[in-house]
Amino acid sequence: MRIDVLTILPDVVEGFASASLLGKAWRDGVLDLRIHDIRDAATDSHRTVDDAPFGGGAGMVLKPEPIFDTVERVDPPRPLIYLSPAGRTFRQGDARRLADGAGFTLLCGRYEGVDERVRQHLVDEELSIGDYVLAGGEVAAAVVLEAVCRLVPGVLGNRESVADESFSSGLLEYPHYTRPADYRGWSVPAVLRSGDHGRVERWRRAQSLYRTASVRPDLLAARGGLTAEDRALLAEFGLIVDNGSDGIGGARNGPAGR
Ligand code: SAM
Repeated sequence: MRIDVLTILPDVVEGFASASLLGKAWRDGVLDLRIHDIRDAATDSHRTVDDAPFGGGAGMVLKPEPIFDTVERVDPPRPLIYLSPAGRTFRQGDARRLADGAGFTLLCGRYEGVDERVRQHLVDEELSIGDYVLAGGEVAAAVVLEAVCRLVPGVLGNRESVADESFSSGLLEYPHYTRPADYRGWSVPAVLRSGDHGRVERWRRAQSLYRTASVRPDLLAARGGLTAEDRALLAEFGLIVDNGSDGIGGARNGPAGR
């Protein structure tokens, strides 16, 4: 998979991408990551890439020429995604879609962002990593890179599974425990040590439902709320989910599980 990143701070992206599993996949050639410095396309001795906004106002705007010139020179893979707080929110489904493709390109803004003609005539889509404003797109690029690349076969190895983690089923993931079985008097739920795999599976699903109802009832609503089967499963483990007026409600003070 080829991924290009266009930025005026290539060291920031490269530093992040060189570390951990992403860096290993890059060095092993599983990922063909190409980081381009937009300043290389500047034509003056100061390597200028920004200018004051027409119409006045605070801040600077990234000029169109170095961005168009970089894209035309390197012919990066599409879609070309501009990272922007004004974009659609990046979700796990986007990570999956991009991981299933042959490649993509991330354009990082700075200052007040990019000249509007870049958005209108060069960019294929715009993604935001959340409802807050960063100083630049590099951290957002790191978020997208990591979320996508960990789904690319060969990047994670078999140390982590992406099959039943949060969002993959529309629910948040169940809790995990490892040794010791008792730590400072806090015990691992007995069901996880019972050897009863069917019951473990049911407990995990009940915990997923409970956790999602507690903190992300919107996710439950999106999949049509709790079914009678879900409610029976919650009841089996003593987990209480209030019946709100929307039929989904939230979870309250149920035990962590038995
Ligand atoms: N003036 C812009 C606005 O109000 O929408 C904010 C520009 S921001 C200071 C500079 C750059 O940071 C943006 O061009 C974008 O690339 C990046 N950025 C900031 N917040 C972001 C977010 N939530 N998601 C993705 N990129 C973001």
